[in-house]
Amino acid sequence: MKIAVLRETADAEPRVAATPETVKKLIGLGAEVAVESGAGVHASIADAAYADAGAAVGDRAATIAGAGLVLGVQGPTVADLPGIASGTTLLAILAPFADRARVDGYAQAGINAFAMEFMPRITRAQSMDVLSSQSNLAGYKSVIDAAEAYGRAFPMMMTAAGTISAARVFVMGVGVAGLQAIATARRLGAIVSATDVRSATKEQIESLGAKAIFVDSVKGIEGEGSGGYATEMSDEYKAAQAALVSSHIAKQDIVITTALIPGRPAPRLISDAQLASMRPGSVLVDLAVESGGNIEGSRPGEVVEVHGVKIIGHRNLAGRMAADASALYARNLFNLISAFWDKDGKAAAWTADDEIVKGIKLTEGGAVVHERLTA
Ligand code: NAD
Repeated sequence: MKIAVLRETADAEPRVAATPETVKKLIGLGAEVAVESGAGVHASIADAAYADAGAAVGDRAATIAGAGLVLGVQGPTVADLPGIASGTTLLAILAPFADRARVDGYAQAGINAFAMEFMPRITRAQSMDVLSSQSNLAGYKSVIDAAEAYGRAFPMMMTAAGTISAARVFVMGVGVAGLQAIATARRLGAIVSATDVRSATKEQIESLGAKAIFVDSVKGIEGEGSGGYATEMSDEYKAAQAALVSSHIAKQDIVITTALIPGRPAPRLISDAQLASMRPGSVLVDLAVESGGNIEGSRPGEVVEVHGVKIIGHRNLAGRMAADASALYARNLFNLISAFWDKDGKAAAWTADDEIVKGIKLTEGGAVVHERLTA
């Protein structure tokens, strides 16, 4: 089977879906690999490195011609896939709720489109989970971005000229990104606190040496929550959370928000009045900015200043570390492909009734088939 690796065309997308390492591994499985020229340029991977790994490097049409499998980071439109054959499988982050017409286009073109972000949260699929691999890097980068924008130091410093106190960092939403943000802020010497609606995160926060700040008066989500995901909270919970945040946030220098609810806009966690209570020079990073934002006034792709505090709303935080993000994303794709590889046929064989395949397959045989899109 020929596997094609695309150069990303989406705005501000510097990642790439394969690296020389995964190209070699795919060839090791018996695949033929073609990479579009320039695909790795923003992830510091030259065409020559792909060629050395054994890939054919060429233009888009030559790359796609005859491929049974096409790999991308963000979903291309069908118009971006010249000459793609009916029956070809596409693996990428497809954002079907943001752009349904593109997904319908895959169905019409006979493409079997698999959305990597729909990967089920089961142990077997952990190594294929792009949301985890990319969120982890985003959590790290959010703290680095905050530290850069903060006009003070993170660690306590005792100098001959006097003592500088440690920065206070508050992380709201303790999933994959939040946990990495806590760990990174701790490594930089900050005093860290964190909150979530899922009770299972309390122990995780404390195990990283941070203080857990939780609503006690109203019940949150027991344990991990369904599949590790949160749901929208009651008005009573929201009011109790707002009161808790108001009293805590005025003492914080840095706030990182990562709270998401699948299929819904991100919950609003910080109001303009709460921002006004913070010390001038404080920095907030809103990782949920592209899903509607956790912070009032945050804007996708912008750094906004209000009441003397900065709100960072960078898009695609993982993409700001394109080399590492690509390396992990490419391994996620390889792990998926190799798990379904038919050694004798030297091709991917997507077992129709497998939980993973059912979880990620959006289109097949000319139709949209995923239950979240057909219901
Ligand atoms: P996410 O990106 O969906 O959300 C980020 C965090 O925001 C979550 O912890 C969520 O509980 C929290 N949140 C939502 N609403 C909130 C609110 N109003 N206030 C405060 N916090 C709020 O989550 P995620 O990073 O994808 O991971 C969530 C969990 O799933 C983690 O425990 C992770 O370990 C688990 N997980 C498991 C697998 C697997 O088993 N394969 C893979 C990925 C993640």
